[in-house]
Amino acid sequence: MHYQPKTDLLQNRIILVTGASDGIGREAALTYARYGACVILLGRNEDKLRAVAQELSGQHGGTPHWFTLDLLTATPQDCASLAQKLAGLVPRLDGVLHNAGMLGDVTPMEQQDPQTWQNVMQVNVNATFFLTQALLPLLLKSDAGSLVFTSSSVGRQGRAGWGAYAASKFATEGMMQVLAEEYKQKNLRVNCINPGGTRTAMRASAFPAEDPKKLKTPRDLMPLYLWLMGDDSRRKTGMSFDAQPNRKPGISE
Ligand code: NDP
Repeated sequence: MHYQPKTDLLQNRIILVTGASDGIGREAALTYARYGACVILLGRNEDKLRAVAQELSGQHGGTPHWFTLDLLTATPQDCASLAQKLAGLVPRLDGVLHNAGMLGDVTPMEQQDPQTWQNVMQVNVNATFFLTQALLPLLLKSDAGSLVFTSSSVGRQGRAGWGAYAASKFATEGMMQVLAEEYKQKNLRVNCINPGGTRTAMRASAFPAEDPKKLKTPRDLMPLYLWLMGDDSRRKTGMSFDAQPNRKPGISE
């Protein structure tokens, strides 16, 4: 995407990023802060989150709020109590990037481990829903809230071997579409990003034989991540965007 955001695109915006400890989420959190946002980091690993928070405070001063929440075990009550804590710290949320995700087993359906299947659904769908439900009141306090889910090419077209992950990303697209319609008369837009093959730990575990140098880095994707959080996308809702529109899904040859 060719997009030249204003340097203060996200000034005064309060944006929560899940899976902010690594990969695309980490980069999104750092980028949003660079464009002026006050970011709130969510992840499951305290040490990794603290390191991102320190990097942010080194760059911009002030320590961002960060919270550990393991989406694998997160209940609606956990998410409600996080939202309550947040409501004591910030007046509203202008953006939520649901980025955390679990890959599960890349293997044919008949070999998908049922427990791993459930774990993938819990992280990618159920906990993402619990968190969305809990955070909606804060998002609706924004004059232009942006709720962004993270999809995948296999969330639009099923592919052999992608079992639980593909099903969970179809569910993500569905959740986005339902919410977009429910809030279309309000100040909340709801969209999906499909990052496309990106140089991260998740990608390496899905395609261990692939040369990571052939992949875009999280930083390369940031124009779309910025656009969807800033005012330039204000009227877009219910859509699923590709961060790499010209990329063919699958392994990089
Ligand atoms: P990474 O594995 O690099 O990062 C995933 C992030 O999610 C990490 O911060 C990780 O935490 C966090 N996370 C994982 N499980 C949990 C959990 N149970 N509770 C809380 N946080 C958790 O993945 P990517 O950056 O590649 O992926 C980001 C998103 O993009 C995912 O939704 C993925 O499905 C999607 N995507 C990625 C593509 C790619 O090629 N990379 C392609 C298409 C979609 P921790 O640091 O503790 O591991």
